[in-house]
Amino acid sequence: MENIRVRFAPSPTGALHIGGVRTALYNYLFARKHGGTFILRIEDTDQTRYIKGAEAYIIEALEWCGFTPDEGPGFGGDYGPYRQSERKDMYAAFAQQLVDNGKAYYAFDTPEELDAIREAEKEKGNHTFKYDSKVRATLNNSIRLSANEVQAKLDAGEPYTIRLKVPENEEVKVNDLIRGEVIFQSNELDDKILLKADGMPTYHLANIVDDHAMKISHVIRGEEWLPSTAHHVLLYQAFGWENEMPKFAHLPLILKPTGKGKLSKRDGAKLGIPVFPLSWDGGTPDDSFVGFREFGFDPGAVRNFLAFLGWNPGTEQEIFSEQELIDAFSIEKIGKSGARFDWDKAQWFNQQYIIASDNKALVPVIRKEIQKHGHDASDDFLAAFAEMMKERVTFYPDFWENAYYFFEPVKEYDPKTIRKKWKPERRPLFEQLLERFDALEDYTGENVKATVEAFMADNELKFGDVLPIMRVGVSGTMKGPAVFDMMALLGKEEVNQRLRKAYDVMDEAHAS
Ligand code: GLU
Repeated sequence: MENIRVRFAPSPTGALHIGGVRTALYNYLFARKHGGTFILRIEDTDQTRYIKGAEAYIIEALEWCGFTPDEGPGFGGDYGPYRQSERKDMYAAFAQQLVDNGKAYYAFDTPEELDAIREAEKEKGNHTFKYDSKVRATLNNSIRLSANEVQAKLDAGEPYTIRLKVPENEEVKVNDLIRGEVIFQSNELDDKILLKADGMPTYHLANIVDDHAMKISHVIRGEEWLPSTAHHVLLYQAFGWENEMPKFAHLPLILKPTGKGKLSKRDGAKLGIPVFPLSWDGGTPDDSFVGFREFGFDPGAVRNFLAFLGWNPGTEQEIFSEQELIDAFSIEKIGKSGARFDWDKAQWFNQQYIIASDNKALVPVIRKEIQKHGHDASDDFLAAFAEMMKERVTFYPDFWENAYYFFEPVKEYDPKTIRKKWKPERRPLFEQLLERFDALEDYTGENVKATVEAFMADNELKFGDVLPIMRVGVSGTMKGPAVFDMMALLGKEEVNQRLRKAYDVMDEAHAS
């Protein structure tokens, strides 16, 4: 392939939605696959929608997911600056160029004038007033006004916008790599504003000028931008850049977990699940979200999950390392129809990633979780703990939630087990078991097991008489890792102390 240059071009208008992260991922995979360049461009020309902290959020999210840009603000590159606000002085000249060659025009209509026209049209029953080829000759612009009138307005410093003069009666063809040829009728398209009255470009102008200046080869973005692409194709033609036009690929929508309708940030809040990569605090409850990171996801699992939201390798394989994704990825395998945000699948991916993690790699992750609760433990302890627990968690915080008792005393003993399994008259026997443990020199899982088995044989007890007592005695719950391993990790003194206390608690429960 030719020199592949792709860009992720978010607007810093708030937290980056998971759909944006998927767009970044597909751009990143495509660039890596073809030895190309992955560019981050910040589209921040709309100052009214600018949100402080959003750019930093975007960059942090990309880095957490592992899609570090090759070029971008703070990342270097020969085509900068990569923030549109830092390029703002160059756009006006491009708009002017189009006015000069008759592809665009000055429009002096004020917002109030346009509102009045819109209102008047509404009264006539027309609710879809468009500033387009049908009406432009009747409005306050350089199409209708004479050259002298226009000059007089310009000389007087009257504010104006520059609008694209969309040609009449043309078919505008967009060749989309995912959807094939998509045809738009130019008569349906409005004369989009390119340059605003404050001299700032609109998204359309800045986006096209920059894609061209940055030699973008492929535009991979969400489906919601497909309608704009008709204008973008016209802009390439107006500039005479049609031979350098990038190829377009519009990604399918991400649908709600129910499969009905587009996934929105509200769905996350409603279902108590993350739909943003990182937590975001916008200052109000409505604008504050929990992130995949804070929920306890492995970034590799998020990447793997997102890769499948719209793309499919065409094989049975589901778990893909980053390199495997790069090798398998292709735009041809991206689907047209919406991809359902399947929360069960997201959880499944995370479980698989945790299970496949090296115990040593989990040590710092687990340490962070238990430190949140004021605890710490040695690397060896945590690695052994990881081995026991990693098949029993879905998210990182579960290491604490499901197994806090490895780090602090049991809070609650399962009442059902106490009721059914504890026989106060057996207390002397169980005391004796503690003596047998005490006598053990080498307190390993195997030795503990052998000790318990000998104790059972000598006292004609069954596993069901003893193991639940051991398990609930040391952990409080019937759920958890293999009981003898758990006991070995906790250690002889700790276990005996816990069991002695548990016997008291169980006796008391029976007495009351
Ligand atoms: N700034 C646009 C956005 O926020 C970019 C769309 C595009 O990729 O062209 O998504």
